[in-house]
Parts: sequence; C-alpha cells; structure tokens
Amino acid sequence: MRILVTGGAGFLGSHLCERLVTDGHDVICLDNFFTGRRCNIAHLLNRPNFELVRHDIIDPIKLEVDQVYNLACPASPPHYQYNPIKTVKTSVMGAINCLGLAKRVKARVFQASTSEVYGDPQVHPQPESYWGNVNPIGKRACYDEGKRCAETLFFDYHRENKVDIRVIRIFNTYGPRMLANDGRVVSNFIVQALRGEDLTVYGDGAQTRSFCYVDDLIEGFVRFMAQTETVGPMNLGNPGEFTMLQLAELTLKLVGGKSKIVFKPLPADDPKQRKPDITLARRVLGWEPKVPLEAGLDRTIAYFRQQLAS
Ligand code: NAD
Ligand code: UDP
Repeated sequence: MRILVTGGAGFLGSHLCERLVTDGHDVICLDNFFTGRRCNIAHLLNRPNFELVRHDIIDPIKLEVDQVYNLACPASPPHYQYNPIKTVKTSVMGAINCLGLAKRVKARVFQASTSEVYGDPQVHPQPESYWGNVNPIGKRACYDEGKRCAETLFFDYHRENKVDIRVIRIFNTYGPRMLANDGRVVSNFIVQALRGEDLTVYGDGAQTRSFCYVDDLIEGFVRFMAQTETVGPMNLGNPGEFTMLQLAELTLKLVGGKSKIVFKPLPADDPKQRKPDITLARRVLGWEPKVPLEAGLDRTIAYFRQQLAS
C-alpha cells in the first residue's frame, strides 16, 4: 500500500515509518519539522519505498494514498504550549485536511488521539466509554481540546461521509528518538541523570502515569489499522502504573551517578492519575504490551547515552 504518515519525522512517527517501510509499503513521511528531525528518518532516506515531504498539515494535502496515519502535532507540554493557537490549528485543521484527503481518495485514516482527552480523570483506570474531565480554558486545553475536536471531526466524517476512520487514544509512550529537550518526564529524568543534574519531580511526585515502550505501541497501531471490527476509539498503553517519584528512583537506579531528586511546582491542570483500561485492545487486537518499564528504560538510557556522547 501507499501510506502517508503525518508527523513522520517525530518520535512515534519515525518508528512507524520504519515499521511500514520494513513491511514493504510505499511510505510518504510528511512533517514541518517543528519537533521532528531529519536524523530520525535519515536511515530511511535511501530506501526506494520512502519519501519525505516538508509540509504543514494546516494546509491541504494533495496526494494519492491508500492509508493515512495522522500523527502531526507536538506532544510534550512545553512544545504544545509554546504556540497554543498553532497547536489547536494543527489538531483541528490537520484533522480536516487528513479527513478531506481520505474522503477524496477513499483511504483509511488513523488519528493519533491521546489519553489527554480524559483530562484529570475521575474514573480510574480509564475505559474508552469515559467522557473525561478537561479544563477547556487552561494551559493544557490547546492540546486536550484540539485532540477532542479532532475526534469529533473523525466521527462526523465517518457518520456523514462514510470515511473509514480509526481512532487510537495513546497513553504516555517513551523510547529512543524522543528529544533530549522534549520536556516529557521520561526523557527529562534520563537526560538529567546522565548529565549528573538533579531530577526535577513536579509537585510531590505522587501523581501517576502508565508508560508504554514505543515498539509495543507501534505493533498496536499496525494491528488496529488492519482490523475492521471497530473504528475506535481504542486505548493503547501499558497498564503498569507508577508515581513520578517511583520513576525518578528507578531512573536513578538504572543510570547510576550522584544525581538527587528535587521538587518543583506542579504545572496547572496536571492530571493526578492515569492508567489505560486496555480490555478492548486485548480482545480485538490480541494486543498486550510486552516490554516492562525497566527494560524499556534501559534501551532508552542507552540511546540518550549515545546521543549525549555525540
Ligand atoms: P513528536 O513531537 O515527536 O512528533 C510530532 C511530529 O509532528 C513532529 O515530527 C513534528 O515536527 C510534527 N508536526 C507538528 N506540527 C506539525 C504541523 N503543523 N504540520 C506537520 N507536521 C507537524 O511527538 P510524538 O510523541 O511522536 O507524538 C506523535 C503523535 O502521537 C502526536 O499527535 C501526539 O499527540 C500523539 N500522542 C503521543 C503520545 C506519546 O506519549 N508519545 C501520547 C499521546 C498522543
Ligand atoms: N514531570 C515531572 N518532572 C519533569 C517532567 C514531568 O515530575 O521533569 C511530571 C509531570 O508533572 C506529570 C508527569 O511527570 O505529572 C508526566 O508528564 P509528561 O509531560 O511526560 O506527560 P503528561 O503530563 O502529558 O502525561
């Protein structure tokens, strides 16, 4: 198949492009390089079934493809809050452009939605049926509400225009090719520990997240896109739940060194707990995350060790 991956030069997008190229598909990677990098996909550039297009998803796309994976959107709080209006445009206009393309060429179209649609959840763990608890005017709203509106658009195009959609809600995912200055917790802690700096735990560190290793997530993407039982939304993530203090302590144990843990103010609207209910993914995809946190952190630490050394 010919497959478009928007945001293909980013963290998740580059792993997805790699997987699809390896599976023998013709892959078009589209990116505006806001948080993506050419080096993430440099190893694919000489492959005959890989193309790179510099384009901003807020402008219409004219391509002929069989499938679209829409991943274009900054994902870390500092990056998506850097220009919040642009973040909303990327989510909403990006969704409209991907859906318009899919409608015209009758392609199956995948939306990388997020556990952030649940906001600061009052139901725990979060099943897909939960509608969420999102502050619509807070600092995180540009991302959370942008993604919620994108889901609305996907389901309206599906109902009104029979567009063949797939909507995934991704829970915190980590691994090689995150940016060292990404701002998300796993990369922050690892980079701080490797540099011998103190690890910055926000708040008292009792808030929880569930961390999925990137390879597990990409396997889930491909299985979800291939099946016809459900259009979603479907949660994908690792249900193992950790406090940020536990994550900091584990990172220190794995990296070694002399860093200490310091406490910084908790950002506004920071969700207190998050853990996916993956019953649907287990049943429909036969999918289960395989990489435990410690093993995934080891691989990610090895990546950043090499990055920082070079
Ligand atoms: P990332 O920041 O590494 O990747 C996003 C990519 O999109 C980058 O390559 C960036 O340059 C590109 N991009 C941003 N705005 C664009 C625009 N207007 N036009 C074209 N390209 C644009 O983040 P990621 O972690 O790889 O996330 C990928 C997708 O998955 C995002 O949509 C994100 O919301 C979603 N997601 C990720 C996670 C996670 O834990 N990694 C969790 C939930 C949802
Ligand atoms: N966090 C932290 N220290 C950091 C970066 C993040 O304690 O250096 C916390 C953050 O407050 C949040 C959790 O880690 O409670 C996950 O943050 P991240 O930005 O990775 O993802 P999100 O909040 O979007 O799930």
